[in-house]
Parts: sequence; C-alpha cells; structure tokens
Amino acid sequence: MKTQVKALVVGGGAVGTSIAYHLARAGWDDVMLLERDELTSGSTWHAAGLLPYFNMSFATTHIHDYSIKFYKTLEEETGLNAGFAVVGNLRMAQTDERMEEYMLYASTAETCGVPYQWMTPDEVKAKWPLIRTEDLKGAIYHQTDGYINPADVTMAMAKGARQRGVVIERKWQADAFHWNGEAWEVTVTKMVEKGGNLIPSDEQVVITAEHVVTASGNHAQRTAQMLGIKMPAIPVEHQFIVMDSDPELVKFRAEGNVEHPVIRDADAQSYVREERGGWILGVYEPNAPARFEYGVPDSFRADLFQLDLDRIEDQYMAMNHRIPSAEDCGLKDDFNGPICYTPDGNPLVGPAPGLRNMWLAEGFSFGITAAGGTGYYLAQLMVEGEAEIDMASLDPKRYGDWMTTEFAARKNEEAYEHVYILHHPDEERPACRPLRTSPAYDRQAARGAQFGWTNGWERPNYYAPEGFNDHESRSFRRGGWWQYAVDEAKAVREGVGLIDATAFTKHLVKGQGATAFLDWFTCNKLPNVGRINLTYALTGAGTTRTEYTIVRLAQDEYYLVSAGGWTAYDSDYLRKAIEDKAPELGYIECHDVTTQWGVFAIAGPKSRDVLREVIKDANPDTALSNKRFPWLTMRNIELGMVPVRAIRVAYTGELGWELHHPIEMQNHLFDLLEKAGEKHGMKLVGARAQNWLRQEKSYRAFGTELGRDATPLEADLPRFVNMDKDFQGKQAMAEHGIKAKCVTLLIDGPDDADPWGREVLYHGDARVGRLTSGGYSVAFGKSIGMGYVKPETAVVGTKLKVKMFDQLWDAEIVEDSPYDPKNATIRVDG
Ligand SMILES: Cc1cc2nc3c(=O)[nH]c(=O)nc-3n(C[C@H](O)[C@H](O)[C@H](O)COP(=O)(O)OP(=O)(O)OC[C@H]3O[C@@H](n4cnc5c(N)ncnc54)[C@H](O)[C@@H]3O)c2cc1C
Repeated sequence: MKTQVKALVVGGGAVGTSIAYHLARAGWDDVMLLERDELTSGSTWHAAGLLPYFNMSFATTHIHDYSIKFYKTLEEETGLNAGFAVVGNLRMAQTDERMEEYMLYASTAETCGVPYQWMTPDEVKAKWPLIRTEDLKGAIYHQTDGYINPADVTMAMAKGARQRGVVIERKWQADAFHWNGEAWEVTVTKMVEKGGNLIPSDEQVVITAEHVVTASGNHAQRTAQMLGIKMPAIPVEHQFIVMDSDPELVKFRAEGNVEHPVIRDADAQSYVREERGGWILGVYEPNAPARFEYGVPDSFRADLFQLDLDRIEDQYMAMNHRIPSAEDCGLKDDFNGPICYTPDGNPLVGPAPGLRNMWLAEGFSFGITAAGGTGYYLAQLMVEGEAEIDMASLDPKRYGDWMTTEFAARKNEEAYEHVYILHHPDEERPACRPLRTSPAYDRQAARGAQFGWTNGWERPNYYAPEGFNDHESRSFRRGGWWQYAVDEAKAVREGVGLIDATAFTKHLVKGQGATAFLDWFTCNKLPNVGRINLTYALTGAGTTRTEYTIVRLAQDEYYLVSAGGWTAYDSDYLRKAIEDKAPELGYIECHDVTTQWGVFAIAGPKSRDVLREVIKDANPDTALSNKRFPWLTMRNIELGMVPVRAIRVAYTGELGWELHHPIEMQNHLFDLLEKAGEKHGMKLVGARAQNWLRQEKSYRAFGTELGRDATPLEADLPRFVNMDKDFQGKQAMAEHGIKAKCVTLLIDGPDDADPWGREVLYHGDARVGRLTSGGYSVAFGKSIGMGYVKPETAVVGTKLKVKMFDQLWDAEIVEDSPYDPKNATIRVDG
C-alpha cells in the first residue's frame, strides 16, 4: 500500500469519488481514495438518484448544473453507463404563491443559463394523462435533468479516477489524523468482515498526505471528533417506497409513450418517479428524526431503518390523489436511510476550521446531484487556491464555536422538513430560537421587534405593532412587513433611527508586527491613529475574501469590524494568515472580541441632537462637531455612564455613529438613548430598512456584492484599493481583469413587489448579468437593486430589464450612490 500521497480523500461515496476524480483531472497525479467498506456503501447506495436543478442559490445552481452536464460525459470517458435517465423534471404548483416561488427560482436559474419551460395544467394533462391536474396552477419543467443510478455514476467516476492515476483502497478506515507541521499523518486500519459485521483488524498503516479531504457522509461526527472540530453534519431519516406495477402506467408506456419525468408535488412534500412499471414515492415529511448524533454505531453498515408508514401517510394519500392509478398498487420495497443534513441544508465544503490542508466535503443531503460540481469546484479551490464561484455559502465555518450537537440535530430536522416549504425570500426559520441574544433582546421584543437570524444571533429585521404575525406576512411580493420597513427607512432619512448591529464580527489585532501585517493583509491604506478605513482582505486569486472597517486604536493596535454572519470564517482566515506572517513581521496578537462589544448604529439628520443629550463632555455642544469628531474617525466618548467607542460612519448613508459599547452595559445604553430619542422622534429600525438604505448609497455588502468570485475592482471600488503598496492578492487581482462590474439600478417593477437580489438582467435580448441585492428605495419611491453586469454594459444611463414574475421590467443603471452622491448629509456639521 502506498504510504505517501499528495492528497488523500477519505470516503468512497459519490462525493469523495468525484473529488478524487476531479483532483486528478485538475492535475494532481498522486491522489488516493480510502473507503472503509465498499465504494457507495454509505448513503450513496440507497439514494433515489434524482438530480433536481431546483434550488434558490446561485452557487448551488452552478454546482448542480455542472453535475448534470458532467454525468452525461462519463460514459464516453469511461465506457461505463452511469445510468442517467434524462426524463426531465416536472415541478408542479397547487397555489399561485408556489408559481411565484418557481418564477423567482427561474430568474435565478437563467442567471446560470439553466433551461426550463412553463407548463399549464392542460399541457401537463395532455402529455401525462395519469397525472391529476384540475387543482394545479401550473408547473415548471426541466427537460435536461432526471435521475441517475447512484452506484453506477459513482463507479463510473471511480473508473475515470483510476484511469487518471487515482489509487482506490477499499476496506481501509481512517482512524487518526496528525498534522506534523508539513503534512498529515493518517493512521488507517484494515477492516475485515466478521459475522456480517465490518470490524477493524490489527493491521495499521500510516499514510502521509500533503492534503486530506474528508467526505465521510454519515460518519461526519466521528470524523469531526478525530479532527477535534465541530461539524453540524448529522443525518436525518429519509424514506422512499417502491410500488408494485401500475397497470395504467404499463399500458401508457406500452402505447409508445416515453417515461414520465420526475414528478414533484412540492405542496404535497413528495417526489415520484417511474420504476419498472410502478412508482417510487419519496417524501420530506414532518417529524423525521435526526440519527447518529454521536456517531454511526459499528453495527450499522449499508443498513436501513424500519419504515415508518404512519409518518408519511399524508404524503402517500396526496400521491394517490395526484396519480389516481397508483392507489391500488401494493408496496414492493421500502427505504428508510440516513440522509446527512446541515442546519441550512447546504453541505460543508471547504477548509476545516483551525487546520491546515484539511478540506471538508460533508453534510450532503443532495449528494448525488451535488457530487459532480462539488468535486469540480473543490478541486479548483485546492489546486488553484480559489474556485470560479464563491464557495462561501458552503464554507464549513459559517457556523461558529457556539454550535452544539443539540443545535445541529434539531436544526437539521427542520432543514429536512423545510425542503418543500415555500421558500419565501423573507423566510425566517423557527427551530432553536432564540439562542444567541444580545442584552437588549427583551426590550426590542417588547417594542415589537421581529427578529432575523444571523449566525445564531437574533437581530431585529423590523418592528411591528402588537399581534402582528411575521410568518403570515411573508410573500414573494411586498410582505405584510413592508410598510413598517418603509417607515423605518424614512425615519432614518428624515429624522433619526437606532439600529442594533451587535452581530458584527469584531477582532482586535495588535502587537509589534500588526501594522506591517495588516498593510499586507488588506488592500487599502491603513488609517492613522483615531481614524478608520474601509478595506478588503483578498484571496490569493485577488477576489474579495472579507470586507473590514479598520479602526486604528493605537500605533500597533487595530479594531477590525466585519460582517455579522461570518465570525468563524473571518477569524480562521485572519489567524492562519497571522501565523504565516508573524515569524517575518514580528509578534501579532489576534482576539475575536465579537461577544464583548455590543453595537448600536444611530443614524439620521437628528442623530447628533440625540447623542448631544446624553454625552458627558466638558463641552457637549462641540463634542460631536466636525472639528472634534470628523467623519471617518473614532473617539472614545461617554454616553451617560457607558464608555463608548464611537465611530463616525453610517451604513445607511446619513449623519450617524456606530456606538460600540461593553456588552454588559447595553441595556443601560439602550434605555438612555431611547429616552433621549423620544423628543426627537427616534425610531427603532431593523435590518431590512438598513439593507434598502445602503443600496441607495451603493454600499456593497459582503455575501452579495462582495465575495470570492469578484475582485474589489470588479466591485467597482478602486478608491479603496491602494495600488501604491504591496498587498496579498494584488498581482492576481490585476491579472484577473474586469470580467463583470458592480452597478446600482433603479427599477420600475410591479406595483406590489421589489426584487430580492437573485434576478437575471437583460440588455435587449442579451443576458448581461444578475442582481445581487434588491429592495425598495424610499428616496426614489421605486425599487432598487445592485448587481453585476458585463463590463461593457456597466455604463450609467444604460437601460436594462430585470426579470420578475416571468416578466421583464425596466431598470436603469444609475451613478454610484444615487442618494446624496457628494456625501453632504453624512458630513453635515453641527
Ligand atoms: C433514502 C434516500 C434517498 C436519497 N435520494 C437522493 C436523490 O434522489 N438525489 C440526491 O442527490 N441525493 C439523494 N439522497 C442523498 C444522498 O444519498 C447523499 O447525499 C449522498 O449519497 C452523499 O454522498 P457522500 O459521498 O457524501 O456520502 P456516503 O455515500 O455516505 O459516503 C461516505 C463514505 O465514507 C466512508 N467512510 C466514512 N468514514 C470513513 C473513514 N473514517 N475511513 C474510510 N471511509 C470512511 C463510508 O463508508 C461511506 O462509504 C438520498 C438519501 C437517502 C437516505
């Protein structure tokens, strides 16, 4: 057995096999794949093999799209038929709202060039008469997807991998991982059969690997334990049943008709496909339990759980309603297997937290669909340093140290149950909440706060009157909450608002090497002491890794503020970079101080008046003036009895301050500001209004306009890039060029809807880009959006069309910061 390799992939399911294949295809010629049992013996063997395009994310659409195209090429490459039945996929809608969900999805699908077609109930009936359609509103049909045999496609990838030099070792289990400073030493144990069980033998080998990828499926908890990390990848039970032959179906096919597409009745939480003259029914039912929270028992191999028919009775009855001829078919076979989930349903793909050269590919719930694309993009990440698409939404570090087994298990059950819910863009999921609350949570709740979830934190989305029901207010159009957000946005533009920004990620970086480090780590000039700068940490590929507001507290001491959702992600990258550079640059400390500091943002023309009431200063009248407290500076001030690190910036684009305060004093500060604000009409404002306001200022947000698929120059932020200095990613950024450019658009959309930031953009007949943000502008009284278009299209005044509800609506590219382009209101003196 080989004991030294460049990359060791642990896990021979669809995902691990695809990764090994793609690493070899990307040029790594020394790859080993390790499987404790037989290839496909994990979840892969009992998957139904459906390959649905449908999902609501740009990155995942690319991943699924790649898989579907790639699987079609495998037979030619390997000679093995992967069993791809391109029967199409029919997704039906029982309600108008469901159709609107599909229309939003379709607009996103178009941004990636995924083909689809609309069908009326009559058209469905004419083509597939066995389907009952009188209660349908319509359907979306993907003609290019279908289902595949999961074992066959895995074997075809395995053959392709072997042809490219990958060594596949079966019946070897990875049992321990040790990083020796340069490579991983992986202790692997020969597994042997005994009495039907698979047990470890005494034979052990240590394999040295420069890189390790884990794709251990349902064994993710064991893997996490061996690596000393937490992973929210825990399986949930998933059932499908196979029915006896349906005479009506047999007749239909005997008449020369082609196979039915995969039929999805989302409102009935089920999927159906043909199987040898009968039907397979798979469901995503409520109350499916999480399993193996603390690891898979040794006795569980390619096993299944007991079928729980009671749990899926409703879905079974609904299927008989949809396909009446199925009603008399007996049950032939059943599958209740573990399907790995994560709290948001996305897999965990990318570098492991705190570890070097350790890559995770865990938590796949649509692993057959995602395997091809995951292999392709993860191989890019590992071999080239970055992938073409922004992999942040899949990054394992989107959950921080606060994440526990109990949280993951309960949240994964929710993610499973939510597969077929209406995916409202303003959706907030209820499980495991509230969990991370700032001290003012109760006060905000008492004032009507409707909370959103960001990285576990509860953050007010908007404030509503007593008795308002956020859940019922959700919509693909303007939800019931919309008017409250409008009122809050107006309060900031015309008066004053108070926003809770406690969830911001905050790091303290200090020490003798800190200045030189941050100068290399970020692309903008570092601020002078007492000043702040907006800057970006780039990836090795020159794209945006993180946006920071940097406050220079002292000569070699910096306070870094970044997006709230990404604490562990930012921390990990920062710490690893410091570890690399400290030997060269000198001692550097890095502390994640996120939970030590609360943040209120006060903004609006009257914000100075409110603060003046409570500031303790020898001369309160001048303490907040432009002279003593200029724009883009930081001052340590005292508000009542609270020491506050005040930063004169406002993400809303109004006169304003961020008030960073010791978190234990938050309630005192809240009460103080609320009281002082009363006479100035101060309004509590949530994240939704803030999101709209920042678009009027063209402020890019991390995760939407800013990500690892675009450079700061493509984000059109050259003023924050100092080309006179050397910084990480500088050359790559220059070489990357400008492939797309970020623009702001004012949109004449429908009267009752705004874009969500996922829609496709057209220039004439040509698809030229996509929105990354969307909302309503109170300043212009119409919809607003930000997005990326082809560079030649990114010209102010260009008229585009945005697709919403399957119609094209006028949009115009406007100058950056259409509201107050000269920043007059932000700089106003007083
Ligand atoms: C009933 C059911 C129906 C499904 N239907 C679909 C579907 O229609 N479409 C779809 O896309 N997905 C479907 N899925 C989900 C799909 O099966 C999984 O997402 C997919 O198989 C995950 O593949 P994987 O490679 O990540 O994991 P697995 O297939 O579980 O592979 C992991 C492998 O790692 C090995 N391993 C673990 N630890 C070690 C170790 N320490 N050393 C060596 N080897 C190790 C295991 O033995 C296993 O073979 C379904 C799942 C179920 C349960």
